[in-house]
Amino acid sequence: MDKPRKPRVTTDPNILLEKVLDNFTLFQSDMIRMYFKTIPPSKQRRYIKALKGKSLATAVVVHCYECMGWKAEEVEGCTSCACPLFLYRPYK
Ligand code: SF4
Repeated sequence: MDKPRKPRVTTDPNILLEKVLDNFTLFQSDMIRMYFKTIPPSKQRRYIKALKGKSLATAVVVHCYECMGWKAEEVEGCTSCACPLFLYRPYK
């Protein structure tokens, strides 16, 4: 007897984004979709995780990436000690 198949879990960032957008208004969703296209693919999943609103740490990391043009080495070299997130930035 065949075992029932497990449903496939999608890894497509665009599909994952659409699931998260249920929590936003139509206008916000459109803004997020437009912005999402500008994010490097390697950072898109983390951005989606931040949009879920369940991890402040992820939100800080994503904000720092965004601040520094999505470049980890730039975040590591951040010298903006006046920034409220400075002590919480990743890669310090
Ligand atoms: S800590 Fe640095 S990288 Fe992070 S948001 Fe502030 S200025 Fe940008």
